[in-house]
Order: sequence, then C-alpha cells, then structure tokens
Amino acid sequence: MQKSLLSYQSGATSPMIFSGEFADDVEWCEGNWPELEFRSPEDEAWYAVEVSDICDALMISFNGFSYEHDEFYPADDFKNSDEILEFEERFRACSEQMQDVECPKVHEGTKVCATCPSVTGEVKFYDAIVVTVERMKHERDEEGNEVCGCDFKLFWKQGPYINQVTTAKVGDICLRAEENRMNPKVVSFLKEARRKLHGEPCNQGN
Ligand SMILES: [Zn+2]
Repeated sequence: MQKSLLSYQSGATSPMIFSGEFADDVEWCEGNWPELEFRSPEDEAWYAVEVSDICDALMISFNGFSYEHDEFYPADDFKNSDEILEFEERFRACSEQMQDVECPKVHEGTKVCATCPSVTGEVKFYDAIVVTVERMKHERDEEGNEVCGCDFKLFWKQGPYINQVTTAKVGDICLRAEENRMNPKVVSFLKEARRKLHGEPCNQGN
C-alpha cells in the first residue's frame, strides 16, 4: 500500500531508536512472502513495513520513511502473553490500492483499509467496513480506462472516525489481502518472545 510520506509526524517517539550497525539480511528470501503492513502503536494507523531480526529483537522499518521512524522491539520486552498477542495482531499482509475495475466486487460488508477525511492533510489508513455503495455508471478517461465515480459509505472500525460513517472514493480505498500466512521473521520473533516470557532456554544456537 502506498502510504503517504506526510502521514508520519516527526513528534512520534518510538519505544527505542536503533541506529547504526545494521545487520545484513541477505540470506532470507523476501520474494515468497507477501509484503507486510503493521499497525503502529503511535497512531494506530496501518503502514507498509519491512522487518528485520536483530539480536533477539524485531526492527520495523516504515516504507517511505527514514530510519528515524524505525521501531525496535526487544523480544524480552513483553510483560505477558496478552501483550504478545496484541503485538502479533498488529501485522498482516499488505492491503492493496483498489482499482476502478474492482468496483463490482466491493459491496456491503466488504472489509477495507482506507484513508479517512482529514483537516490536517494527513493521509493515514485505518480499517473500515463498507455499508453501502452508491453506484454510478463508470465513465472512460481519454485513454479508455474505466473510471469509478461511485460513493462508498464506510463505517470506521478504527481511527478518528471510529463508529462513524463517511463517504470515500475508489482512490481512498485499499482492499484487504486474502493472504494470511504470517511472515516467518515475525513468527520466529513471536516464538522467541514467548520463550523468553515463559523463561524457557533458547535452543536456537545463535
Ligand atoms: Zn464504481
């Protein structure tokens, strides 16, 4: 998902800033796994991210943002298993920008991740559910591409408009990924976090 560069405010404080000495991470094949999105605890919005595992910690880099915005999570920093579960639920496969021709498959009940109206010009993505679609006949642009002008009424499940309904256009909407395999780096980090929490010895040999 294309997240706006405007959206991440510089006042954000990460749990810990990791700077320098980046581990090279070449052995892991990225190609087989869907891109990740992560719901930042800073603003509870969804961002496309890359993850790396560094010394029993997970580093999250936000696509399109400089490293100052990276978030760093040590595996031994969780107080209980609920916190680990809550962290796990912050990850999922990346949502994708809805295309005009995908309009017919969006209807009442479709779960989406979308940008909400903002007076500050920030573009942030939150989860919503489609309540109704006010369909209009699709036009064609000069190049003959189908253009959706329909109004999508969204009921927000998160973000500043939580529990409210607003109107969105196709360009505001990303469709949720059907993929639900979890990225192996996140999986092994969560495993490690649970092992540390329960005080079991680490057998990984690294
Ligand atoms: Zn449409």
